Amino acid sequence: MGSTVLIKNAKYIVTPDERGERTYILRDKDILAENGVIICISSSCSEVSPRGSIRINADKHVVMPAMINCHTHAAMKIFKGSLPDKEFWEWLDKIIKIEEKIITKELVYQGSKLASIEMLLNGIIGFIDMYYYPGETVKAASEYGLLVRTGPYRPDNAYAVLSRIKNYPNGYPLINIHSLYKSDPEIIDKMYTIAEEQGLPIHIHVSETRREVYLVRRKTGKWPVQYMYSNGWLNENVILTHLNWVLSSEIPLIKEKNAKVVNCPHSAMRLAEAGFCPVYEILREGIILGVGTDGSTGDRYNLLDEIRMMLLLYRHNYWDTRLKLQYLFSKIMVDTYKIFGIKGGVIKPGWPAHLSLFKIDTARHRPLGASNLLASLILSGGAEADYVMINGGLVLTPEMKTKLYTDAERVSDRIEEKLMRIVDYYEGEVIE
Ligand SMILES: [Zn+2]
Repeated sequence: MGSTVLIKNAKYIVTPDERGERTYILRDKDILAENGVIICISSSCSEVSPRGSIRINADKHVVMPAMINCHTHAAMKIFKGSLPDKEFWEWLDKIIKIEEKIITKELVYQGSKLASIEMLLNGIIGFIDMYYYPGETVKAASEYGLLVRTGPYRPDNAYAVLSRIKNYPNGYPLINIHSLYKSDPEIIDKMYTIAEEQGLPIHIHVSETRREVYLVRRKTGKWPVQYMYSNGWLNENVILTHLNWVLSSEIPLIKEKNAKVVNCPHSAMRLAEAGFCPVYEILREGIILGVGTDGSTGDRYNLLDEIRMMLLLYRHNYWDTRLKLQYLFSKIMVDTYKIFGIKGGVIKPGWPAHLSLFKIDTARHRPLGASNLLASLILSGGAEADYVMINGGLVLTPEMKTKLYTDAERVSDRIEEKLMRIVDYYEGEVIE
């Protein structure tokens, strides 16, 4: 904040409209941001740019809104590539046993550092998290300028955790509830009471697998979303994550209560969860929809790639192309900010300067023009950001990358030294 940044001669600017229904592509334009806000987009912003502005030459870049990862367990980056051949329930059983034996505050801090670095390089400026020691994740992400929304997952230490998160300017609190099958109804009620009293969002995994849906049905006589509705647990502050096995009859309940939905397509496919989040129907109802990478089963913290997965999964399951790339991109850009709870996702004067600049990679992206830009960037597997800006402040530049890679190497060395000897990543066994 306070500084002025001039992005000069951007080859392309890609932005949704404010409603997230259309994507606009501009060519050869400048962007000027002052005090964190975009104040000019034109061919000649340099004329109004004050002397001493930071200047970025973007004639080989695509400028996009920076992205928000709406569901992750960032510190699970320490388990990268683990358990690649397990389906969800085998995976869950294994990972919980490993976590019980090895998770420490320090590992969460280090894993969150690595996760933050990876997200920045993928043009992501914030994430919604659920994990042990949430304060450590906020501390790590804050060092790199990322915004984190996270919080306690049990009532007994909830207030202490919330106050630690609020101590960081980049920390945004929420209440985490693992799931309907792992959390007792009394605990869920207590967490809802705290959320209501503190005016906080609630973040919960729902209807991720078929077995979960039947477990809830057997225990309560209701399907998960229906059960939440009848318990008064659905409202506009609730973020329902996954919904791979949601029923058509449950979608109107989500709409009626204005709850929000986040889906993690890569993780769902990796864990053989099947089912399918009906993204087209959810968007048609006007429900806010975000995308997330999930934790280690997301394999990479890359949102452009998650959008690709979401689109492909929809088409593969429905045998049609009703869900258009341009529409999905613009909805996700706008809705992920609504889910996080800050203004952004649109490149327009008066909007916060949350921006990512991706270098056009000749080998991967070209031939390139306005009409194939989105498909080229997203369907070909994404790109690496060169510059990332939060509220007009640069948190990634080509010069900063050297430090980020040095940090990543140092932290990775430490994690490898600690874990690779004692954890069999393939089988998910702790050896010592
Ligand atoms: Zn998750």
